[in-house]
Amino acid sequence: MLINVNTIIKDNDPLVRQKSEPVALPLSNEDKELLMDMLTYVIESKDEELAEAKNLRPAVGIAAVQVGVLKQMIAVDCEIGYDENDEPIMATYALVNPRIISASAKQTYLKSGEGCLSAEVDHAGYVPRSMRVKVEGYDLLQDKMVTIRAEGYLAVVLQHEIDHFSGIMFYDRINQMAPNAKIPGAIMIE
Ligand SMILES: [Zn+2]
Repeated sequence: MLINVNTIIKDNDPLVRQKSEPVALPLSNEDKELLMDMLTYVIESKDEELAEAKNLRPAVGIAAVQVGVLKQMIAVDCEIGYDENDEPIMATYALVNPRIISASAKQTYLKSGEGCLSAEVDHAGYVPRSMRVKVEGYDLLQDKMVTIRAEGYLAVVLQHEIDHFSGIMFYDRINQMAPNAKIPGAIMIE
């Protein structure tokens, strides 16, 4: 599937608010292809030249609903730290039916707020998320069921993408009365 800025579904489309369905395993070839196309988007979008040439907006994650398919699939490629050579360490997943099986009471939020390929305008404000989540699902890259223990930024990204299955946009979670009020007890991620 051709995925670029023009084909990604925006939040003025009611589809974004619909629920995504679980996907049958083993994956059909069609589902495999779609999920790999989603992952390719997320990876290539961070390469300036490719992004320019293919009309991609940088992203760390994407959910299938954003390309118009109401299936519980997400692709994630985000930085989780640096190795001893100062090279970024990436967490990369192509997940089918991921679900949060536990989440910490401890909260976190990104200092810069969140963004979304389906949101064309900025929505400033802190988005409260669990600091740690345990996510279970089938990972196409590893071709097996996996349990991901995510913390901090990766935990935020997984929660953001899994929210799309319920038709929830990140800005639904911003306190509209006080979007940049400190969230008590939460850890801010720079
Ligand atoms: Zn999003």
